[in-house]
Amino acid sequence: MAWDFSTEPEFQAKLDWADAFVRERVEPLDVAFPDPAAPYDRRDPLLRKLTEPLKNEVKRQGLWACHLGPELGGPGYGQVKLALLNEILGRSQWAPTIFGCQAPDSGNAEILAAYGTEEQKRRYLEPLLAGEIVSCFAMTEPQGGSDPGGFRCRAVREGDHWVLEGEKYFASHADLAEFLIVMAITNPDVPVHRGASMFLVPRDTPGLHIVRRAGLGTEPLGEGHHCHVRFDRCRVPAENLLGGEGQGFAIAQTRLGGGRVHHAMRTVAMAKKALAMMCERALSRTVQGEPLAQKQFVQGMIAESFLQLEQFRLLVLYTAWHIDQGHREQARLYIAAVKIQMAEVLHDIVRRAVHLHGALGCSNELPLMRWWLAVPVMGIADGPTEVHMLTVARQLLKQYQAYSGPWPPEFLPEAVPQARLRLGLEPEPGS
Ligand SMILES: Cc1cc2nc3c(=O)[nH]c(=O)nc-3n(C[C@H](O)[C@H](O)[C@H](O)COP(=O)(O)OP(=O)(O)OC[C@H]3O[C@@H](n4cnc5c(N)ncnc54)[C@H](O)[C@@H]3O)c2cc1C
Repeated sequence: MAWDFSTEPEFQAKLDWADAFVRERVEPLDVAFPDPAAPYDRRDPLLRKLTEPLKNEVKRQGLWACHLGPELGGPGYGQVKLALLNEILGRSQWAPTIFGCQAPDSGNAEILAAYGTEEQKRRYLEPLLAGEIVSCFAMTEPQGGSDPGGFRCRAVREGDHWVLEGEKYFASHADLAEFLIVMAITNPDVPVHRGASMFLVPRDTPGLHIVRRAGLGTEPLGEGHHCHVRFDRCRVPAENLLGGEGQGFAIAQTRLGGGRVHHAMRTVAMAKKALAMMCERALSRTVQGEPLAQKQFVQGMIAESFLQLEQFRLLVLYTAWHIDQGHREQARLYIAAVKIQMAEVLHDIVRRAVHLHGALGCSNELPLMRWWLAVPVMGIADGPTEVHMLTVARQLLKQYQAYSGPWPPEFLPEAVPQARLRLGLEPEPGS
């Protein structure tokens, strides 16, 4: 009997260490430096001074960049272990950086490791893995995000160079990055899934312009880090094509699967924190002479939040297990399901937490409204909910077949005589 929800003691000890370390040493960074881009800023000497000793401690514990396989110096933990670790890291927006596994650098490192030249690895991969530089992944365009059929950014071969021409939007941290990994169309005459390729574009390449820096929500205009980027005859050497021509989407897909599970477990952590705040508030706040915790409406909110959170957590761990088992088709189905649920569960739980905190919940004096802003982001970044719904439905439909004739197999006027026959209640025809 192999179903088992326990964690092996050696790994549990690592999780316990990570839990205490994140709470005591990393979460103060969230409070003192709440700008979501701060963990990606390698130029600020004060941030470097504060974070270097923390990163070194993580390295000493063998928990640095745990998503990497042994060939890249990582422990080769499977997705279930990584999910459990991310459930801790998700408490803090700084923790992924302190543990060397922040997106999109984690996925970009895997791409460079698989497709980069030795020189590219030395120049970009090594400092990226060491946490000395950050990178950007640029796929979305102003006129098309979730539908790649709308992508227009082109790369054309000229001698021993590729020349990029076009625009990207919401390229996170392009302004802070040392290099960008850019998806561009190399063959417009075939469907985009076979006509797009990936390029390594160093940030200082002539012709790469940051047009604007969009921000999220109420951030001051022009001061965010989700960049509108333009490539104006931007030339990169031929070897900066990563993988083969037309392989852009195949590469992007390998990069996103595990990453979605990590995001989902970090969302579990955020929702857990919101539920804990909800419970503490319910026990602490008195209305009409009794704590909020005595009110049945409030008890309902707490119970529903717990149910949604626990179901979602198990769904994510089950998804991670499918990936570890190499169940490719099931993994596709479950990764899409998790991506959909992530936004919904966070929405419901954070909304209740904000609501129970009243005006304080709506204020900028608690982290709750920052988590509230994460709700629409979860439903859109890495592809909107609707697109993942299509994947879920398509994957499920593959498991079934159409029946012939007008009646389903459960049609009782036919099913009842067949059942009676099988049970020996009716004589066989012709007997
Ligand atoms: C915080 C954040 C960070 C991001 N970072 C990056 C990054 O670093 N690099 C990058 O390349 N991109 C990044 N993105 C962009 C993200 O990948 C896109 O926003 C996403 O793919 C959706 O594309 P879009 O914004 O153009 O929305 P659209 O494609 O215009 O979709 C808008 C809406 O249309 C509806 N819709 C779309 N398709 C369908 C469908 N098939 N059926 C029914 N309804 C549909 C959905 O309601 C959807 O939300 C980031 C986004 C956010 C919010």
